[in-house]
Amino acid sequence: MTPPRSGSPWYRDGLSFSCTRCGACCTSAPGYVWVTYEEIKALAQFRGETVDQFSAKFVRQVGDYYSLIERKGGDCIFWDAQAGCTVYPARPVQCRTWPFWPENVETPKDWEGITRVCPGAGKGRLYSVDEIVESIGNVRQ
Ligand code: SF4
Repeated sequence: MTPPRSGSPWYRDGLSFSCTRCGACCTSAPGYVWVTYEEIKALAQFRGETVDQFSAKFVRQVGDYYSLIERKGGDCIFWDAQAGCTVYPARPVQCRTWPFWPENVETPKDWEGITRVCPGAGKGRLYSVDEIVESIGNVRQ
């Protein structure tokens, strides 16, 4: 067995995750799904709308940033109980990188907490340390 490189993260052997599409991360608690102009453009294109049409219906400004709006109670505006995420192919980076966000994998305890709220975390496909590090690098902070 190769000894761990010094300074390599605690998840150097990878972490498992396979989304069950339960919707827990897309529903319930109010929050923000941050979107850039490029992501708004991709979402609008996916829905067959112009950026202006899409933005008027689904985007809110929060300070200097933009977020998707949500339903009363906090569900994502694009979450459908039957169909799941209705913009999945065009979903923003924030959704693509879940659950490999810096704060979720900082310590084993943080990851353990995520496995309690996300039934797909800790199960299924094994992501390599490189994939996880890449995901973390893509998260905007
Ligand atoms: S909480 Fe986890 S398993 Fe459920 S939809 Fe979100 S990523 Fe998928």
